[in-house]
Amino acid sequence: MKRVYNFSAGPSMLPQAVLERAAAEMLDCNGTGQSVMEMSHRSKAFEPIIANTEALLRELMGIPANYKVLFLQGGASLQFAMIPLNLKKKGKAAYVDTGVWSGKALKEAKKWLTVDVVASSKDKNYSYIPKLDKVEGDYDYVHVTSNNTIFGTKMNRFPETGKIPLVCDASSNILSEPMDVSKFGIIYAGAQKNLAPAGVTVVIIREDLIRGPNHPDGDLPADVATMLRYDTHAAEGSMFNTPPCYSIYVMGLVLEHVKKMGGVEAMAKLNREKAAILYDFLDKSAFFKATTAKEDRSLMNVPFVTTIADAEKAEAMNKKFVSEAAKAGLVNLAGHRLVGGMRASIYNAMPIDGVKALVEFMKNFEKTNQ
Ligand SMILES: *Cc1c(COP(=O)(O)O)cnc(C)c1O
Repeated sequence: MKRVYNFSAGPSMLPQAVLERAAAEMLDCNGTGQSVMEMSHRSKAFEPIIANTEALLRELMGIPANYKVLFLQGGASLQFAMIPLNLKKKGKAAYVDTGVWSGKALKEAKKWLTVDVVASSKDKNYSYIPKLDKVEGDYDYVHVTSNNTIFGTKMNRFPETGKIPLVCDASSNILSEPMDVSKFGIIYAGAQKNLAPAGVTVVIIREDLIRGPNHPDGDLPADVATMLRYDTHAAEGSMFNTPPCYSIYVMGLVLEHVKKMGGVEAMAKLNREKAAILYDFLDKSAFFKATTAKEDRSLMNVPFVTTIADAEKAEAMNKKFVSEAAKAGLVNLAGHRLVGGMRASIYNAMPIDGVKALVEFMKNFEKTNQ
């Protein structure tokens, strides 16, 4: 068996120990004589599995008791709609525009409310995080993206929003560094980057933001679909309908693994080490360079280009790099078309040896191609 180092932006690598455990439990999980794929979500066998996943996420992220943890479907992309549908009161929201995903989120929100873009880094192709200390105004919420998967930037400081709920798309860096959950109204994340296989979306929501018939601000409008209401899922412990059982199970295994590794602090230390190896090389290289502002660099997604000025020659070199890297067992390094060049996604599950192997490959590539 040969495993590759997979630098995909998502879905992405899972820890090998987790895959081995899932394989070992495939035919008989916890002495039930069944795979989790075959279990009724309402069975005694599945109950402890979802409870364990939630308990571990609460423990690792330090989620306060007045927050609900929901396991939903539809990806982070469905949250782009559920957030305005559930949080709309006066009809205006503030969005920070830091890349493709925040752009999609705000475009969707415009279907239901007025959107003010309170900061943007569009002027420099989203290569930095715009400065924003504070947001004030009659907004129903403020939306930010903590890590920009495509452009490779990370928000290191979140704006002060006072009483306005701060909503954060943390799809590509949840659990990579500690996060003070109490500063946020909602944190949401598609699981397929740092948490689990695709199919489940985690929503961490402060209870007072869950509107329903008995909410002081009144119920949601009657035409909001049942499945798109947070109160539907909160009231039923994410079991209003069949949840993505297997993804929730694997998330539990991933969280157990993270706990064993020393928790989120330990992941953050390792992630900083991994990212430093790659950025230090890029900053010293005469052949490659990073595309992002130093102070805003992502620990998870590292886009880079060559220093070749001629666009056609650069493109040919990118293709050569990606194909030769794949032959060396370093796969999915093609950059996003909006940035060009290459991108290495080095989520929690990417071992430090994978990053070292990539840098070794880049050093040799530089030597033979400059
Ligand atoms: C991948 C990603 C999304 C989209 O997630 P889906 O689960 O595919 O809908 C949204 N936001 C960010 C920051 C992402 O990285």
